[in-house]
Amino acid sequence: MPGFVDIHVHGGGGADYMDGTLEAVRTAGRTHLRHGATTVFPTTTTGSPAQIQRMLDACAAVRAAWTPADGARIAGVHLYGPYFAAKKVGCHAVEGRRDPSASEYENYFRQGIVRIATCAAELPNAGAFYRAARRRGCLVTCGHSNATWSEMALAYKAGMRHVDHFWCAMSSVDSLRAAYGTPMQAGMEQFVLAREEMSTEVIADGEHLSQELLEFAYRMKGPRRLCLVTDANRALEMPPGRYRFGPIEDGSWIQSNGRVGLAPGAGLASSVVALDTMVRNMKKMTTASLAEVVRMASLTPAERAGIADQVGSLEAGKLADIVLLDRQLRVRRVFVGGEEVTVGRDLSCGGVKPDQSATP
Ligand SMILES: [Zn+2]
Ligand SMILES: [Zn+2]
Repeated sequence: MPGFVDIHVHGGGGADYMDGTLEAVRTAGRTHLRHGATTVFPTTTTGSPAQIQRMLDACAAVRAAWTPADGARIAGVHLYGPYFAAKKVGCHAVEGRRDPSASEYENYFRQGIVRIATCAAELPNAGAFYRAARRRGCLVTCGHSNATWSEMALAYKAGMRHVDHFWCAMSSVDSLRAAYGTPMQAGMEQFVLAREEMSTEVIADGEHLSQELLEFAYRMKGPRRLCLVTDANRALEMPPGRYRFGPIEDGSWIQSNGRVGLAPGAGLASSVVALDTMVRNMKKMTTASLAEVVRMASLTPAERAGIADQVGSLEAGKLADIVLLDRQLRVRRVFVGGEEVTVGRDLSCGGVKPDQSATP
């Protein structure tokens, strides 16, 4: 298979990209590479401008001197936090949320590493943010939002073409009714389903979305508009326990039970499994063919993020990032740029350390 491409990933192996150190970037990158993700877009959480800048600097530094020993290729950063709706921050620290300001985001965009850009469509200046991101050639996305249909239509005009983790932290008929009363109105879900050009992504860990929702997303959007993402946090490949989501010094606390991240209270708090697990789940839980599942984990995210000329499929002229899997779709060998990388332990069992599962 072509190496997997993850457009929404926060960390793994104990590290969050928002820790902002070169070692954290490498640790997360190596963890995902072992699971077959040869290209990643490290994804910001909410945080202060200094924390986001530190994360961009660390990713840029690793990318500038990158070798496969540093882990998955960094194709660019997904600027995800901080421009979320106040009531839809989910497990992100709410103190690090704010409305978009041109002086802040233009500074990030100028540095050239941001390739995917998220903003909630209802925020003041969201349109200006989308147009600026579009000018830079980013995949422009709406997430952590309670946007109405008309706000989505305006966002679409400004270049927005993608919605983050479908059904998670986004508007629905119900959430809009709670906010605006009747008549009931359409929101992000209907907009994504009604507009062919809109793409989205699912967290197929079996914990966020049921089998019928994964099947529904696949059937409605098809393999050319649906991406598999991990949205993984630092607890990937780590034992169950309490972890910081986002920056190590003040990110919000989440709990990992070894299968998924949990926020205090009731909510889910991103995944703790990798893309190989998502591929296995999508094959097992939906009617998508293996080729379609692989496309959703490689070529489709590569196309949406504008890097399909380099990665995403096995074609002459591309970078020869290749994953070999066994019949159970477990990662056996990983090649980056045509060269095999040592993937180390077999960690394809998804979040559970082999030494723990072997313990009686
Ligand atoms: Zn999110
Ligand atoms: Zn996320």
